[in-house]
Order: sequence, then structure tokens, then C-alpha cells
Amino acid sequence: MLIKLKNKSAAAVLAIQNYVKEKGCDTRVFEGDTFDAIFIYGDNRENKIKISDIDSLAGADIDKVMTSGSLLSSRAFKKEDSSFKVGDVTFGSDELVMMAGPCAIETYEQLDAIAKELSGQGVKVLRGGAFKPRTSPYSFQGLGVEGLKMAREICDKYNMLFVSELTDVRYLDAFQEYVDIIQTGARNSQNFELFKALGSIDTPVLLKKGFSDSIDNFLCVADYIYSGGNKRIILCERGVMGLNQNHYRNTMDINSILTLRNLSHLPVCVDPSHACGRRDFIEPMCLAATTLGASSILLEVHNNPEIALCDAKQAFSFSDFKHLQKSLSVFTTATESVGKD
Ligand code: PEP
Ligand code: MN
Repeated sequence: MLIKLKNKSAAAVLAIQNYVKEKGCDTRVFEGDTFDAIFIYGDNRENKIKISDIDSLAGADIDKVMTSGSLLSSRAFKKEDSSFKVGDVTFGSDELVMMAGPCAIETYEQLDAIAKELSGQGVKVLRGGAFKPRTSPYSFQGLGVEGLKMAREICDKYNMLFVSELTDVRYLDAFQEYVDIIQTGARNSQNFELFKALGSIDTPVLLKKGFSDSIDNFLCVADYIYSGGNKRIILCERGVMGLNQNHYRNTMDINSILTLRNLSHLPVCVDPSHACGRRDFIEPMCLAATTLGASSILLEVHNNPEIALCDAKQAFSFSDFKHLQKSLSVFTTATESVGKD
């Protein structure tokens, strides 16, 4: 449960901490702008911790005891945008962070060629899946830990950060060793054990919304990680399941970008590759996403899109990417100057 205090009260926090400790559970205290929140966790099978006891300890200071919903990722908790640095990029600031690379790491040569080109085009974060959640068991499944090692070597060579999708807690150690930002996928959007594990480490998390997740549920997932103590979370819109799959793969939910920006202080990313599933939609969607307040973009780029082993139809070529970068720079400069002399 999470105890939301009415304000900041060191005495109430201490009283609750002592009580919870005595009952054999643990607390983690979070300082909001105007109030503290205390997350109570651990083995409470015997129901030793009672809301009525907590009430009598700090009743006047308690706003509410939460056993559902989310709070820590909300603007009510923290009014200003959260921003954080990973290497020399900053998420959640005016900087637009591009994370680009192949859907799947296929070979050393493929990833090296892509990293070389993209770093030359100013990209500081390389994406690349090593564990691919594919619909069919007969499709290419990714190179696994070998792929992560390869990507680490290549990212170090080009001075890039590496983001990759973790599909299962079993690989957490390897991801902590080789990956700078851990991505979680749409298909894992209700894997709560995975989110608890990610809360317990300090590697930043690129959290994808599920294709049929509500925004409220998505923010609960963000709270799973935040309440574990890992506050470096990037919320990622990657499209929802729509009615027009014969025309486009998913529907980019641009309303969610605005809504997440309104409801949460965490940085918002957009993945137009999976949201659209077709190359020709990607550039306009990137322009829309940045207008709506996304501060990072995750994009699939391949050295030879036609023969990509995964998600070929949505893969950008190097020249598509160059075109996008140019459009984005013209566009962001133009929108920055709106209203200025
Ligand atoms: C991916 O980014 O490679 C991916 C599988 O994305 P999603 O989980 O959004 O489908
Ligand atoms: Mn993909």
C-alpha cells in the first residue's frame, strides 16, 4: 500500500516507518513537491499491518491510504517535468533524443554499419533487439546475450548508448552488464514481476505502453518501477490496436502523448515505427509527436530495409533517416521561433 500524507511530515514518516518495521515489513519514502508518500512493502500475509493502526499513529497527517491506482508518476506528486541524464543525453528536457537502429540485431557487420552511419548523423542512442518477441515461433528470435555483447562492443566503438528490450527477468544481469537503457515491450505490459525487478535496479527504463493498455493502467506500471526506487523511467507510446490493420499495423495514439504529458511528470517518448508499421507514415508522425511534447523518439533504421529479418516494412533506410533529421531540425527551429521576434 502507499500512504499519501497531506504534507511533508518527518514525524509522521518516522512513526509509520517504526510501526511497519516492528511488523516485519519495509518502507520506502518518496518526497513529492508538497507531500511525502510512504510505500509499504514486504510479507504482510498475516495482515499484521492494519490501516486502522496507521491511522491512529498519523491520522491527522494522512490524506489517503492507497491500495490501487498510481501516484508517484503523477503531476500531483511532482509538478515539474522530470528530466535525467544518461551518458551525455538528457531525457525530459528541450533536447530531442533520437534512439535509432534495427528492429533486431542480425549480425556484427549489420549493426556496425548501422551504428557507424547513425552516429555520423548525430544519433547518440542505438536501438537493437536481441530478444525478439515474435508472433510465430518460426520467425527469427534474436541473437540473445551474444547480440547484447556485440552491441556493447559496437556502441563503445562509436561512443553510443545502447537500448534493448528485456523480455524476461532471467536476463536481468546480462542487461545490467551490456545495456544502458532497458526497454520493456508492448507484449510484456502486464508482466508485473518484470517491473518489480526493474524497480530494484538503477538502469533507466524505456517503458512501452501495451497496445490495449489504458493510460491509467500504464501509469500504474510506471509506479511499479518508481516505487521500487528506480525513478529514471521514459513513457513510450507505440500505438494501439486499431480497426484498420489492413491499412496500417497499429494506430498511433497521439491523444496519449498529450494525456501522458498532462498526467505525468515523466518524459514521453514515441515509437512511430511500431505505431504505424509503414515507413511512409513515420516522418509526419515524428513531426506530430514532437509538436505534442514527446522529448524522445524510438525509430527502426536498417542498412538494407528490404532484407531486414524483422519488421522490414517499417524500417527506415539511411536516406529516409537523413531526410527526417533535416525535417525535424527545420520544423523544431520553426516552432521554436513562433511568437518570437
Ligand atoms: C521493438 O521495439 O522492437 C518492439 C518489439 O516493440 P513493441 O514492444 O512496441 O512491439
Ligand atoms: Mn520491431
